[in-house]
Amino acid sequence: MSTRRSFFKQVAVGATAWRTLDFSPPSFAAPAPADPASADPSVERRPAWLGDGIVAAGYLEPLEFYVRRGDAPGDVSQRWKEDFNDAAVQRYKEMGVNLVVMPLHKGMGLKTESSSIDAARKFTEIAHRHGIKVAGYVGSSMFYETFYAEEPDAPGWEQVDERGRPMYYGDQTFRHAACRNNPGYRAFLRKVLQLGVTEVKLDMFHFDQLQWWPEPLSCHCKYCQESFRAYLRQNYTDDQLTQRFGFSYLGGIRVPDFNLDSPPVRSPSELKDPLRQDWARFRCASLADWWRETHEYIRKLNPEVALLGNPTLAPANNCGFIYGIDLQQLLQHSEFVWSEEGNQARWTADGRLVSMIRSYKAARSLGKSLFVTQWLLPNHAYHAEGPPRLRLAEAIAYNHANIGVVGGGWELGGHDLPLELQKYVDFFRRHNKDLVGTTPIIDVAILRSFASIEFNPAKSLVSTVLMEQILLQCKFPFGLIFDTHLQDLSKYKVLVLANQDALSDEQLNQIRRFVEEGGGLVATEATATLTEWRKKRDKPGLADIFGIALDGPQGGEKNPKPARREFGKGRVAYVTQVVPEIEPPPATMSYYFSNQYWKLPKNYEELSEAVRWAARREFCAQVDAPLWVTMELTEQKDTNTWFLHLLNFKEEQPLTDMRVQIRIPAGMRVREAVLESPDESGRRTLSIEGREPALSFMVPKLDVYDFVSLRLERN
Ligand SMILES: [Zn+2]
Repeated sequence: MSTRRSFFKQVAVGATAWRTLDFSPPSFAAPAPADPASADPSVERRPAWLGDGIVAAGYLEPLEFYVRRGDAPGDVSQRWKEDFNDAAVQRYKEMGVNLVVMPLHKGMGLKTESSSIDAARKFTEIAHRHGIKVAGYVGSSMFYETFYAEEPDAPGWEQVDERGRPMYYGDQTFRHAACRNNPGYRAFLRKVLQLGVTEVKLDMFHFDQLQWWPEPLSCHCKYCQESFRAYLRQNYTDDQLTQRFGFSYLGGIRVPDFNLDSPPVRSPSELKDPLRQDWARFRCASLADWWRETHEYIRKLNPEVALLGNPTLAPANNCGFIYGIDLQQLLQHSEFVWSEEGNQARWTADGRLVSMIRSYKAARSLGKSLFVTQWLLPNHAYHAEGPPRLRLAEAIAYNHANIGVVGGGWELGGHDLPLELQKYVDFFRRHNKDLVGTTPIIDVAILRSFASIEFNPAKSLVSTVLMEQILLQCKFPFGLIFDTHLQDLSKYKVLVLANQDALSDEQLNQIRRFVEEGGGLVATEATATLTEWRKKRDKPGLADIFGIALDGPQGGEKNPKPARREFGKGRVAYVTQVVPEIEPPPATMSYYFSNQYWKLPKNYEELSEAVRWAARREFCAQVDAPLWVTMELTEQKDTNTWFLHLLNFKEEQPLTDMRVQIRIPAGMRVREAVLESPDESGRRTLSIEGREPALSFMVPKLDVYDFVSLRLERN
């Protein structure tokens, strides 16, 4: 703690700033581990109705918005309204839908949108009679044409660029972005939440654009400026500030500019500027702070109301830097996160496995589930991207009891699903009790350290995404983990650090302890050569574990060689490089590593063999199948059951006779193994071979999706 303040600091921040701004600075706690025991139970307890699993439909937009946007069909008003009667709700019920997202506040103003709000209220009444829950959509922009007349203070709530100009919503320049660090806007949103809970009787809220705008469009409003300085004060002592910036006086610190006029600041390939690093971290922390406040407020209004947000999730991009999204902070404060990424499950003609599995796994490792739009009207371009059955299979296998959005208004999926998809929804509903309360079994954890992935994406992100691709296609039971998970690595067999170059001393100690106690470690390239501030270490951070200096091909070590050795009770393997099959895009800070680059790396066999070696070849499940088959293994502790999910990404090529090896906990045996699939009716009992704990069985056939239940019991 810093007790001594400099003269400059007293003048700058001692008393004046907050008073003139008339708001109190938010408190930015560092991300804490997702430990339910330490959290406020009234906020952390999940609404009971979530135990039914989620099959959703959506409307999202108010009628007034369709009209103002100007691209809706002439009969929009009729079409929009006819979805809200008793017959439509009855039809959803038949489809298995149990949650519908309705418009609540797009941003035109509560009066301007009052007829849509009223429609949502009436729809909610009908839906509740049929046992269907309703969520309310809340946007993040302000339509100044009407909103500013209704809310006279709203012009002061705008996000502004470095020239003080508003941020537009793309080409819809009539929508200005509101700043969630602005106390006035926060108060207005509380009014919207109150209306949603007390008058519309909603069961959930869905916040769109749960993110900041990409650079150079960072908000430079006075609240962001002052909160940023408060964030720095809270996170650093005077000594640390001096180490970080060369001075400790914060009065002159501003949100970093991009020199919008001429010429723009060149986007570097790696973020070394300490202030820009902290600005990116601040964007994440302040968004998470507002999200926490929102979650707590909703729960106070009604503990049975859930929260969902759409943060433009795309785990192959460095979204922490681009959009100010740090999932490990955000997902402490809601039940769901939405993804609109264009990675619909498919096997491409050039041999890439495209999936949303990273997003599913990221959400699950933080104990939450993902919302995905699975089905739009059949003529929608969306359906060109891969077989829809596979999308639903992916959600059943990798999500936590949430199959996603399968219907909705005329812009979404309508009221009818093709029969082959309805079979998947029916299967999901029938197996709800097998999907809730499960957790993935993770033998191999791959780290996404914030300071590496977000600030050196062309290297750390690329190697990590490609390594994840190997873990997925080579069918390891794996999970994505974040900095917060390093505090307890004991449940994993292997930790993978794919070019995670920036790690703190504390993190290195956690990793070292894990290996000493018997964990396996696989590292590549320049892992641990920098501190979390991205300063070069005097001595590579894991040199003692590997017995060599890991400086990577471009680093100080002239010819780094692959290494394998025992360390403590564990095993460590170093691979010099993850070698991309397709040349990645040039290095830049806002990095989009889209699925066109997701081909398995050239040396995927060397890398997967390193993981096997580090784990002493002991995995809870291994499936002998081609690279276009993926698997997920989950467990339900209450019922002593394991569930193995198998997906075939080549829909047109069914597979037969796949050998599955499993390794069950000591002292247990398999009472029953049953195979079911929405592609085929009936249940098939599988015969188990081998001696505990190493067992195996044969899967006779896989069309698109197989579901194997393994009921365990004590020996
Ligand atoms: Zn702002």
